[in-house]
Amino acid sequence: MSIHSKLISDNPQDRIPSEMKAALERSDLFIDVHAHVFNYEDVPDGFLGIRLPFNQRFLYLTERVLHRIIGSSDRDFFSSLAYFVQFFRKRSSIETAEKLTGYHKDVHLLFCALMMDMERGIKGKIIDPYSQQIEKMKAVRDKFPEAVLPFFAADPNNPALHEDFERSFSTAGDYRFFGVKIYPSLGYLPSNPRLMDIFRVCGEKKIPVTAHCSGATVHASARTFRNIEGWHYTEGEGFSNRPVNLNIKKRSDYAVFFNHPRNWEPVLDAIPGLKLNLAHFGGEGEWAKHIQGNKDTWVSYILSLLENYPNLYTDFSYTLHNGQYNEVLKTMLEQHELLSGRVLYGSDYYMVVREGHFRSLKAGFISLMGADLMKKIAQENPKRFLLG
Ligand SMILES: [Zn+2]
Repeated sequence: MSIHSKLISDNPQDRIPSEMKAALERSDLFIDVHAHVFNYEDVPDGFLGIRLPFNQRFLYLTERVLHRIIGSSDRDFFSSLAYFVQFFRKRSSIETAEKLTGYHKDVHLLFCALMMDMERGIKGKIIDPYSQQIEKMKAVRDKFPEAVLPFFAADPNNPALHEDFERSFSTAGDYRFFGVKIYPSLGYLPSNPRLMDIFRVCGEKKIPVTAHCSGATVHASARTFRNIEGWHYTEGEGFSNRPVNLNIKKRSDYAVFFNHPRNWEPVLDAIPGLKLNLAHFGGEGEWAKHIQGNKDTWVSYILSLLENYPNLYTDFSYTLHNGQYNEVLKTMLEQHELLSGRVLYGSDYYMVVREGHFRSLKAGFISLMGADLMKKIAQENPKRFLLG
């Protein structure tokens, strides 16, 4: 089935709420291309590998136990995890969005709210199915029309994918979502034919796509996959689009097979106009290897892709909690003009609160980068990615 794209505008400005239009011209505009507002109602109870149901009582107990382990301190790992659970358990999407805007009183914040469709990949019961999440996301956007750009989660295993997509982007409705979010380790390849149908429309209509490109923090529950569609890469053999089976032996197998940046090459070759953001710039594990001088990492892979594909971007969300990586990134941005035109500011709020206090993580990153680089990565580059 192909997508009815006649009702989707060619102009991203038509998907910008009128309340946001003036903000786009402001000199204090600050764009965070990567944030989340979902909570426990939106994910199956197998999320994060925890087998117990994510009901209020269980989450309440987890939070208390985590606090008790550490006692008085609140800057440690367990307290941060407890703080994360608090968001996940208690806050509605609107409250989480409110909290994020509260951290940006000194600027005009605009953020991309990235949805997750875990209903297909992860086992277990879910309170609000994805179709319901679409309604909730619309409510968040309608509450903060000057600040929120919703990114629709596209999972090719969603039987209603194309209908959901049409509904969320059609000019006939009042959803007017803005971008598309992809999370391959939930069990699909970027060049899956059903996704390619979506990407062709995205290329044509200038809809930006953001894809998780890091370790498999979140991954499908399945350990065996049959007849995976799309282009995949095998060491020594190269690319092939013959349907393939996969047996997972360790968690990193999900990341290497599904999330590797090379999986996007066949997509970008087929749709050169596609605006794509490879999120997390490869992620922490790859940055650890990169700063040790390893030349064969996802970081260098993404760098070479940036040189070949002019509509490709990469955000430093989550990875920015690490001061050492930030310093290396800064040097790279100062040395490579091409790179400084393609890196995007993203926080990965509120996932990143597991790593420490958000206010200080953000402030540390901004002061290290300095005003000139921040203007590029939190204003000029994201504007080009979103509206170009
Ligand atoms: Zn994220």
